[in-house]
Amino acid sequence: MTVSSYFSATYSEARTKFLEACRDCGLPVDNYLNDRAKGAEGEDLYMDVARIGPSDASKLLIISSATHGGEGFCGSGVQVGMLKTGMFKSLPDDTAVLLIHAINPYGFSHIRRVNEDNIDLNRNFLDFSAGLPENPEYAEVHEYLVPDDWDGPARAAADAAIQDYIAKKGIATYQAAVSGGQHIHADGLFFGGFEPSWTNKTLRAVVKKHAGNCAHLALLDFHTGLGPYGHGELIYVGNPKGLPRALSWYGDDVTSPEAGTSTSAIVRGTIDVGICESAPKASHTCVAIEYGTLPILEVLNALRADNWLYLKGDLNSAQGKAIKKQIRDAFYGDADDWKQMIWDRGTSVVGMALKGLQDAK
Ligand SMILES: [Zn+2]
Repeated sequence: MTVSSYFSATYSEARTKFLEACRDCGLPVDNYLNDRAKGAEGEDLYMDVARIGPSDASKLLIISSATHGGEGFCGSGVQVGMLKTGMFKSLPDDTAVLLIHAINPYGFSHIRRVNEDNIDLNRNFLDFSAGLPENPEYAEVHEYLVPDDWDGPARAAADAAIQDYIAKKGIATYQAAVSGGQHIHADGLFFGGFEPSWTNKTLRAVVKKHAGNCAHLALLDFHTGLGPYGHGELIYVGNPKGLPRALSWYGDDVTSPEAGTSTSAIVRGTIDVGICESAPKASHTCVAIEYGTLPILEVLNALRADNWLYLKGDLNSAQGKAIKKQIRDAFYGDADDWKQMIWDRGTSVVGMALKGLQDAK
């Protein structure tokens, strides 16, 4: 069986492979139906959760896919492959692994970064009663991100304005303005929501059930779209107190948006917040593994195009299909060499996480 065969072309196929691999390993799976939406093929949408290892383990490694929907082809492939190759057959003592497949099943199925409410889930895990983070820079670029047409004069004028913005303020400021998260424009990009999403509530319940009493929790959340092609950057997320532990587990190339060493902008409300709050007794070592696909401006433009398509375009038109191909390519390096790189790095990092947990006191 080749590495490429672990990966899928659709959410439905990925889900089937995951469920079959769990069944072949004798693992029960909890299926959490998202009844707020349907998939691109009219299918039901689920977050599926499988636990390997003792139910009372004090150490837990959570491996999750598709926080950003269409990025899920990557993480799902690694999850399926790890089950198929028996990677968790002999876990260290007192250790369990929790595989969460399709944190955002709507986005996975529709090949979108956002959920059914246009929410970027990695901006949604906030205390909504405490006032929301502000991103005034986003308001400056919003109208250019969502022009009235995609192939006409409005787009040309918007692109010129964006080029002007980048020339004046730099690409890093543009990336932070667009991707830092915003709670102003519900139809815009990187929208964090006005309230907790279905995923927010569901994920908290899952983690509470499995990690509410554990002493050491590690998270590996799989992402794509930033950094060099196929390279897996480990981005530390969460309380700065845990950063030295992440460095000791994974090595000095763990990056931190707060320290300015990551390809990611600083963001608030990422899923690790909900995970950590749901396992309050544990130490937390949370990282996102971020694999590159295309250059950053191409990725941001694909996200922009996808946002425009659902607001103002026609999914069934030739233009709509071309945009869906563009966004898919931004999420998924659908080539054997890319999948091999994802697999090699992903399994290596999982090994490091298990070793780190084993040594955790
Ligand atoms: Zn992502």
